[in-house]
Amino acid sequence: MEDIVLRLSEVQEISGALVALYDGSDRLRYANRAFREVYFIDPGEMPLWADIMRRNFALSRGTIIRAASFEEWLVSTQARRGKVGFRAFETDLFDGRWLWMTETVDTEGWMLCIASDITSIRATERKVRQDRDFALKVAQTDELTGIPNRRFVLARAEEIIARATAVPDNNCGCLAILDLDNFKNINDRFGHAAGDIVLRDFAITIHGMVRRLDSMGRIGGEEFALVLPGACLPDAENIVERMLLQVRQSKPLSIDPAFGYTFSAGIAQARPGDTLDRLYERADKALYRAKLGGRNRICLEGEPRNEPAAAI
Ligand code: GH3
Ligand code: MG
Ligand code: MG
Repeated sequence: MEDIVLRLSEVQEISGALVALYDGSDRLRYANRAFREVYFIDPGEMPLWADIMRRNFALSRGTIIRAASFEEWLVSTQARRGKVGFRAFETDLFDGRWLWMTETVDTEGWMLCIASDITSIRATERKVRQDRDFALKVAQTDELTGIPNRRFVLARAEEIIARATAVPDNNCGCLAILDLDNFKNINDRFGHAAGDIVLRDFAITIHGMVRRLDSMGRIGGEEFALVLPGACLPDAENIVERMLLQVRQSKPLSIDPAFGYTFSAGIAQARPGDTLDRLYERADKALYRAKLGGRNRICLEGEPRNEPAAAI
């Protein structure tokens, strides 16, 4: 077996196919020669995926990124990267080459990327395929915040239900609904544009805390969903609690540097045989209790009473 693994890595070094492996934190853990050459990575270097993209973008090399700002592109791409088991797409490089990239993600969030050079094939329909990929991205993205939309994130919720149903014994997975508190007052006091800034601030703050296998999306005005595969209720509560602590510290409005905001959350765990409606309803009921209990707090489904809010 070890012989085969050794042989495999030797053949990969001379292959023209690009091969790379990222861990659950999106750090590059292995890349063959072809991959390192295309993305300008030194042998033995193990950068984060975001850093590879950022430094190549700054030097106009590697993947062509069509976006007004790199950081905006990064948020919307990262928010969907590695959230599904497999995806494939075409991507073009500054040097004129085209790649057919595949991404395969395991249950712990490690991602195998394999790409091949398709510059010379199927070039005539390339524009159509690129338009299709762009349309797919738009169909999954919330325009205001750049994070996934309702359709994308609720599809991830369907997946945790399917998993709970297929492996009922040792699989957890939670849906949390996060709703900004007294958001109408924020709009009334500072104007709709300031409300939009707060929504974007919230999306970026939470996005920065979402693990590879978790997904966050905006499901309505000031309402967001977080899907946490593999997390049971206490884990999910801890994760959302950390997010609440972070959001309480955020000061997004330059017109009032003292302004802060909070959210309330309801969390429910997927059960075998659940439907999305039922799971959603349980999380929504918990959210309602969090609002009734005074906001700025988290409630779990089935809790007998509301926990007092931690001090701000
Ligand atoms: P609660 O704490 O009970 O959730 O109160 P709330 O004021 O946050 O909730 P409510 O549902 O009464 O108000 C939500 C407000 O969100 C009303 C709506 O005008 C505003 N809103 C919805 N979408 C957007 C948006 O895209 N931008 C801005 N600025 N406001 C929005
Ligand atoms: Mg609200
Ligand atoms: Mg609401």
